[in-house]
Formats: sequence, C-alpha cells, structure tokens
Amino acid sequence: MSDWKKDVEVLVHQGKISVPYSWTVGSTLSRWYCELRDNGKIWANRCPGCGTVFVPPKPKCIHCYQEPHDWVELPGTGTVESYTVVRYEEPKLHPRKAPFVYGLIKMDGADTCLLHFIDEIEPEKVKVGMRVEAVLAEEREGNILDIKHFRPLG
Ligand SMILES: [Zn+2]
Repeated sequence: MSDWKKDVEVLVHQGKISVPYSWTVGSTLSRWYCELRDNGKIWANRCPGCGTVFVPPKPKCIHCYQEPHDWVELPGTGTVESYTVVRYEEPKLHPRKAPFVYGLIKMDGADTCLLHFIDEIEPEKVKVGMRVEAVLAEEREGNILDIKHFRPLG
C-alpha cells in the first residue's frame, strides 16, 4: 500500500455559504423593539453603576457589569461619529442597493453609537460631526429597520 497522501498537492478552493437562522433578542432588546414598533419611540437604558447610557440598550453594562434598569427616551437626533459608503451590491448582506451609507450615530442623550443608514443626502456630502435625525418606517415590524434611516437635521 503506497502512502500517496504525502505527495499530494493540497488545493484550497474559495466558497461562500449561506446560513439562515433565528434567535431570541432577549427581554431588553424585545422591549426596545416593541417601543419602536408600537409607539415609534427610541429608548436607551442607563447603568446605575457608571451612568453609561446605551442605545441599543444592553442587558448588562459592558463597563461594570451591572444591569442597566433605568430607561430613558431619546429625542431621535444625533451626530455622525463615523461612516462608510458602500459601493458594491451584496443583496444577501445589504438590505439596500449601492451606493448607500452606513453611519455610526451617537444619539443625543446616549453614550454609545447606533449603526444605521444615512440617507436623503448624496453619499459624498456625508460628514463626521453632521447632525442627523431618525426617520421611522411607516409600517414597523419590531426590528432595526423600523428606523428607516437617519437624515440630515434641518
Ligand atoms: Zn456600568
């Protein structure tokens, strides 16, 4: 019996897999999504230990591990902290047609950023520090796309 495996050139092929799945978002995010869906309100939660205000809300503080049980309603406005312009189509990953803008929005009243679309502006005109406001979807389903996107304020 020959040991043919030691002489084999091992090849590597590129591939992609798609793995559809479902998961529970837990009680904290469920409350957040239900308020967004049912009342069109964006809430955050505040850590009683260090005072950090999280949006989206967290079940545990990432700094001191206490449970942020105080909820605060946010006005829906914020500032662009960072962004990227997506210029290629990836229909299974991106829910919008390119080009579009993903932005990190530091919402007024919160200490963390929310990742979302920035729209109603040409991608080339988006700037760090720009003031934006949330635009809610008319029909909301209890997910992050209940916020349709953020647009320039004023
Ligand atoms: Zn904390």
